[in-house]
Amino acid sequence: MSLTDHHQQHLPPEEVVTFHDRASGAHGIIALHSTGLGPAAGGCRLWRYPDHHTATLDALRLAEGMALKNALADLPFGGGKAVICLPDGPFDRAALFQAFGREVAALKGRYVTAEDVGTSVADMTEVATRTRHVAGLAARGTRPGGDPSPWTALGVLRAMRVAVRHRLGADLSDVTVGVQGLGHVGYALCERLHEAGARLVVAEPRSDVAARAADRFGAMVMSSRALLSARVDVLAPCALGAFLNAATVAGLKASVVCGAANNQLAEDDMAVRLADRDVFYAPDFLVNAGGIVNVAGEYLGWRDADVRQRVMAIGQRMVDVLAQAERTGTTPHHAARTIALDRIAHTPRAQAKAA
Ligand code: NAD
Repeated sequence: MSLTDHHQQHLPPEEVVTFHDRASGAHGIIALHSTGLGPAAGGCRLWRYPDHHTATLDALRLAEGMALKNALADLPFGGGKAVICLPDGPFDRAALFQAFGREVAALKGRYVTAEDVGTSVADMTEVATRTRHVAGLAARGTRPGGDPSPWTALGVLRAMRVAVRHRLGADLSDVTVGVQGLGHVGYALCERLHEAGARLVVAEPRSDVAARAADRFGAMVMSSRALLSARVDVLAPCALGAFLNAATVAGLKASVVCGAANNQLAEDDMAVRLADRDVFYAPDFLVNAGGIVNVAGEYLGWRDADVRQRVMAIGQRMVDVLAQAERTGTTPHHAARTIALDRIAHTPRAQAKAA
């Protein structure tokens, strides 16, 4: 897709910053989708991209997803995202994240960063040496902080419980869940699902981690490709996004798709195809908001208990979105999108721009 096509099909971003720091090799993009509800908040991804164009599109797509997620979760944040292109050879990781921190500082609070795929608490600690507009730092006492993934996993569990009850009339202890990707979120989700009595099937390229899940949770292990068409009740995507396309949707045997991966639908229409096949698709940007709630709590100085309450509320939000979808005869994905876009459009700044 070209950038022009992207801008025609999506809301245009407010600002896109490209940076290139020769000394550290840091090269990346910060996309600020919208700041009407508050600073554009969203993590920083370190990933290998074939070229600058692909990295920019990824940043734009992810920033839009963050805008929807933050608005739907009722957070005082707009949406943003940073991607850093993984350098080809060896590199000084601390210097790279310090250089990124300088770019975040230059935005003077219009963008707040945190971890995403490929980045860690240690990386954000380096960013924090250059700017205060960063979260995902080590937790202190009863204050939120640290790796947001356990909160993301808790939110996924809450939404999944509602989805399974709605679509299958069952509890988690009655179903088999296929978890794709056993990284920070996927493994934590397996722990919670195992506690809840669900049977598990997992796919993970790191064979030692897959073996650990088999050992600890009695999980059956299969390839990622096989999992997409396996006879499971629920598919929980917790790897990378954009895998729900015409071919994979046609092959799905799961009745529910509910997982943490960002931007699971290759295109928005896939939500309709899933509904046509009677697959309940729980909108990713609703389901996986637990991590950004924890990030918000850390940045805004909430207590752990406030974060917990807001993450637990993801279940009720799933119920509300379902009701809205049924009322308006649309999919939960489109209903959730409409609620979020409406919130973004009704900020004073957005209204002033539209006038
Ligand atoms: P991670 O990098 O820790 O884990 C991803 C895992 O997926 C890794 O273990 C990797 O080996 C595995 N994987 C890669 N390709 C795979 C494939 N084809 N099949 C199966 N497994 C594969 O990332 P994470 O932090 O656990 O995040 C997972 C997803 O959830 C990402 O899409 C991320 O953007 C999204 N997400 C994460 C958070 C969070 O709090 N970490 C919050 C919201 C959304």
